[in-house]
Amino acid sequence: MRKKIFSFTGLLLLLLPFTLIAQTTPDEFLGHRVGADRKLADYNQIQAYFQKLDKESGKIKVLTIGKTTLGKPMIMAVITSEDNMAKLDTYRGISKKLRDARGLTPDEARKLAEEGKVIVFITCNLHSDEIGSSQMALEFAYKLVTGKTPFDADKVLEDVIILIAPTINPDGQQMVTDWYRKYVGTKYEGGRMPWLYQHYAGHDNNRDWFMLNLAETKAVTKVMYQDWIPQIHIDQHQIGSSGARLWIPPFANPPNPNVHPLIWRGVALCGMNMAYDLQKNGFKGVQYGQEFAGWWDGACDNTPWFHNTICLLSEAASVKVASPINIDLSEISKSYIEKSMQFPDPWPGGWWRLRDIVDYELTLSLSLVKTAYLHKEDFLYNFYKMCKDSIEKERKASRMLLSFPKSSGIARPHSECSTS
Ligand SMILES: [Zn+2]
Repeated sequence: MRKKIFSFTGLLLLLLPFTLIAQTTPDEFLGHRVGADRKLADYNQIQAYFQKLDKESGKIKVLTIGKTTLGKPMIMAVITSEDNMAKLDTYRGISKKLRDARGLTPDEARKLAEEGKVIVFITCNLHSDEIGSSQMALEFAYKLVTGKTPFDADKVLEDVIILIAPTINPDGQQMVTDWYRKYVGTKYEGGRMPWLYQHYAGHDNNRDWFMLNLAETKAVTKVMYQDWIPQIHIDQHQIGSSGARLWIPPFANPPNPNVHPLIWRGVALCGMNMAYDLQKNGFKGVQYGQEFAGWWDGACDNTPWFHNTICLLSEAASVKVASPINIDLSEISKSYIEKSMQFPDPWPGGWWRLRDIVDYELTLSLSLVKTAYLHKEDFLYNFYKMCKDSIEKERKASRMLLSFPKSSGIARPHSECSTS
């Protein structure tokens, strides 16, 4: 009997490190609240916090997805249930099978959609001085692994695999943070850096997504199209200060006709759920359906449409890096004061802080995860359907090219060489 009690106690002691490890909050780790006025986490701290959370929880795993132009490791966290974490290769495999729809019957695809997990990819801080999302990522990860979410996180993480890259330009994130810290408290506080935050491209690092010249673009593209094949992606940005507090999809006209219409419906579904979740939590000044169109195809948030990934963009109003600003209503343009169907609850003006950006982005990011969970099988099955339609469309185009009469005297398009 005595021996039995000892064994039980021993077992408890053995399990203790795995069951009772407390997850450090980002606020404790940084020594200030995430998004506090004039405070920023730099890339070194962001990496260290994610690594710490990885050690403290089985629901998060930090991966290195490449090296930056200046040689920094680029990190991305995978967040999902512990059961899923043990089978990530299986789920990545399902995603790849659904994408390569050739040879899969609709019934087989339906089964894979039941078995699979929807993969959601969140990219932050592509433009380095749009820094809110790199801070938000810390709290987002913490909330998901500890279940401090507006939904049952354990249940959601059984069906959703989240990938989050806290910055996809770490060189720039560190530069912007160093520069801001150097001048905080002086008359230059919040001023622009006098050099580019991407070594070669500066702000145009978001014009590289069809050329893939930059190391960062290549690393993220490999995640998107080779290693993970997400069904949903969002790229989080900031814009000027005098318009909407937040812009989210659906996109404005015109739609690019080469994009599958189900993409637009999926984008609208995710975007409208975000708008609803933001509104019910009292976030004012959220706009959709205007400004950013579904047309251009060279940026991080829209090239994935052509790979049948539901891809979204968010644009929050900026502060002066981490310094709050006070905006009088007279400084806001008329179209952001009047109510419209796309903008039913204007922001009244006043103080606007980095923490506001974090709160808006946190809410929209968690909303996206929830929508992915609610429509998991639909998103997976329709990913297959869109890919199948794309393959069929290209086959038809190839057949047309091959039947192009040689005697017409018109040169055949060069792409004929690669058709079979
Ligand atoms: Zn941007």
